[in-house]
Amino acid sequence: MKKIKVHSTMVPIYRDAGFHLINTGTSIKAFKDELDHHRAPENYIYSRYRNPTVVAAEEQLMKLEQCNWALLTQSGLSAIDLALSIFQQGKKTGPWLFFSEIYGGTNSFIDRVLIFRRGLDVRRFYPTGGSYDLGELKKMLDEVKPALVYFECVSNPMVVVADCERIISLAKKSGAVVIVDNTFATPYLWRPLEMGADIVVHSATKYLAGHGDLTAGVVCGNDPRMEKDAIEYRKYIGHMLSPDDAYRLGANLKTFELRMKRHCDNAFKLAGMLAAHDKIEQVHYPGLASHSTHEDAKKLFKGKGFGGMITFDLKAAPGKKLEAAEKFIAAVAEDIPLVPTLGNADTTLLHVESVWGDKYPMPGLIRLSVGIEEYEHLETVIQNGLANID
Ligand code: PLP
Repeated sequence: MKKIKVHSTMVPIYRDAGFHLINTGTSIKAFKDELDHHRAPENYIYSRYRNPTVVAAEEQLMKLEQCNWALLTQSGLSAIDLALSIFQQGKKTGPWLFFSEIYGGTNSFIDRVLIFRRGLDVRRFYPTGGSYDLGELKKMLDEVKPALVYFECVSNPMVVVADCERIISLAKKSGAVVIVDNTFATPYLWRPLEMGADIVVHSATKYLAGHGDLTAGVVCGNDPRMEKDAIEYRKYIGHMLSPDDAYRLGANLKTFELRMKRHCDNAFKLAGMLAAHDKIEQVHYPGLASHSTHEDAKKLFKGKGFGGMITFDLKAAPGKKLEAAEKFIAAVAEDIPLVPTLGNADTTLLHVESVWGDKYPMPGLIRLSVGIEEYEHLETVIQNGLANID
């Protein structure tokens, strides 16, 4: 077949499962280079190992997280599996310490895969009174001596910002590898590797892709040995992003910083409006001076913003909160749908109790993922929704 030569400005979607290796000499070189993992090899081999469209999106992410390597996977959870699994060494694996306030799917992965199937020694660190007591963390680190510490910077759904710098420093001093899930804060607000974390993971499904049109994950780091292990694990387990999704992610990433600025600006204004509204009992947003971790957020995010997630409790008579939530959700549904994801360009919401159950027995609690719409329109929709509650 005749090959078409064009001078495109885009890295195309290379859908090849296997690439043309030409002859024995180039085959040998391709397999040797694969072990060294040059980012732009002369010959690609097989798309489960590496794909040029995926590499192009990884290079965009390396710039965002300012790191030496980034590996894309087909979901946030597969990125988490990849990041953790490279530190698992059969019976030699030491205890792993997980902060408790992390994504529910990660907590289930810990219970159902790491503990139940792989038999790992997993410990959990719980907050006291809504935030993490770092004195208690130090005690636990001294006692358990974990080989690995895993946490998220911003908790879900209460948007509590952790004192990340101290957590990383304490964990590193005790000899642990540190993995941070930076999905909520994103590299726009904070880069954990710059504070000494070893690995950063993201559900790229959220703010990085930003349009709710794909699922992806990414693992980022600087250490070349960790990179080698991660490449090997991804290749053998097949945690690889498809070239189509990598292409779409690459295109969406071009507006990442613009989108994040707008998410933060809209959420900041909206949180202020909600906090002053007579139909609202309480607003959880780290940008509000009333929030328990406002000072931590200010220090960590250095004035860039406070993220796009707001959780608020509707005001209603006792026993009437669920009804109020249902009325609000129905009134805004056309503009703000109830969708179980976050970080989309469009504002979406979740009813917390119906997702988290007993953990948050608060029927009036709504989690809003604030989008990048025109602010005035967004405020009008929410004002109208609140007016619908008696
Ligand atoms: N990490 C966080 C903080 C999340 O919120 C999610 C999903 O909601 C994940 C990881 C998992 O990502 P994915 O759904 O892309 O597998």
